[in-house]
Amino acid sequence: MARTILPVKLHEKITVKIDDIRIDGMGIVYLTPSYPLYIADAIPGEKVLLEVIQVDKFSGYAKIVERIEVSSKRQDSHRQYLIDAGTAPLVNLKYDAQLELKQNQIKRLFQDQNMAVTVEQTIGMQNPTYYRNKTIVPVKWQAGHLTSGFYRRGSHELVPMTDYFVNDQAIDQAIIKVRDVLEKYKITAFDPDFEKGAIRYIMVRRGYYSHELMIVLVSNDAVINFEKEIVTDIVAQLPELKSLIFNDSPKQDFVLLSPNNRTLWGEDAIHDTLLGYDFIIGPNSFYQVNPQTTEVLYALAAEKVALKPTDTVIDAYSGIGTIGITIAKRVCQVIGVEVIPGAVADAQINMRANNIDNAEYILADAPQQFKKWQDAGLQPDVVFVDPPRRGLTSDLIQATTEMGPDKFVYISCNPVTLVRDAAEIIQKGYHIDGPIFPVDQFPQTSHIECIAIFKKNS
Ligand code: SAH
Repeated sequence: MARTILPVKLHEKITVKIDDIRIDGMGIVYLTPSYPLYIADAIPGEKVLLEVIQVDKFSGYAKIVERIEVSSKRQDSHRQYLIDAGTAPLVNLKYDAQLELKQNQIKRLFQDQNMAVTVEQTIGMQNPTYYRNKTIVPVKWQAGHLTSGFYRRGSHELVPMTDYFVNDQAIDQAIIKVRDVLEKYKITAFDPDFEKGAIRYIMVRRGYYSHELMIVLVSNDAVINFEKEIVTDIVAQLPELKSLIFNDSPKQDFVLLSPNNRTLWGEDAIHDTLLGYDFIIGPNSFYQVNPQTTEVLYALAAEKVALKPTDTVIDAYSGIGTIGITIAKRVCQVIGVEVIPGAVADAQINMRANNIDNAEYILADAPQQFKKWQDAGLQPDVVFVDPPRRGLTSDLIQATTEMGPDKFVYISCNPVTLVRDAAEIIQKGYHIDGPIFPVDQFPQTSHIECIAIFKKNS
């Protein structure tokens, strides 16, 4: 078999012009039309001297040795550690340019599939920093201290971080306080080298309007020492605390949180409001991480779809019922489906708390539930879907188009799967109605949320 000849060697130094930014925020230069090199913190048009640091069969990685020509879109955020961590890869790109980049990436994805659509300008934030209402960070004992931060890519070295730049600042402060209490009692932390130790992560959630604080101690061990003392100290340190939870989550079984929660102090959940509606948010429930732009996103989707008082609406991938509950008073009925039991329970509480009596939330896998609805002859007028990054399944698209709603509203956190699914929806007798609306839910990162509205062909 012929050996593949790669266009570059490890540690080779080359001068290139950056071609593009990939969907994950890395810069790209194409050494040949089919061999890209990926480079962190590189902006299209910049001329740079690179050193190749990894060579794979179909692509490679390089680091910047020197920037020879600097883009006018670059800003120095003085936060290189965020680029190293990969948590805010676009932090050195001016915010206007971030918004433009995201709009163009979506445009190009549609163009590549020969789909003619207009993509609106990305709706951004006034202040695109310190916006997240939730974070989860690993902890590790290093040099006699409990450190919190991030694992350097591909290593077991935990790099300390105190200013995450995208989290609500009260959340960053809470992490430090909780970490220091755990350090005081010499609580073990899960060590990936030895695969043992107790605390794996500290998760913090804070209501944007309510300021209610939830702390979750995610533990590899089922119990921690000095539990009573730790609870007393954390409560004393955090006046906003409403809910302190122990999550029993053995590393071998769970990536992050398990469903096994024990409330150590306070309530089992916190509350926050969204578009004036009250929501209870449990530790395992999905809740949009950017409460400011979520309000813009939902209001825009509801406005563009022009809901009618006679409409039967499906809210699929409903989480704690945020979309359905905020529109229920404008329509005849809402039926939601969601797969996490705690989220469905929260959705039911949220419905009652907001005096909504024309909604119903079902615990099920969305594609299976859609098939059931279709078999039962349900005829929704509007279907909202808000799936995870992997997007929709063909089964769900098939069931939806056969139920034949007039409008199919797709809220997407991944334009790649949106475009893939759009092709299938269009093939089944729908067209994209109006432009795609990108909303910047995730400033400083490469992620983007967008709304696409499909209408049944007449
Ligand atoms: N619409 C909500 C939640 C969106 S996130 C909001 O805006 O807050 C996507 C949701 O889909 C999560 O709550 C997740 O638990 C749920 N989910 C993931 N896979 C699912 C499936 N197969 N069936 C139903 N829900 C699912």
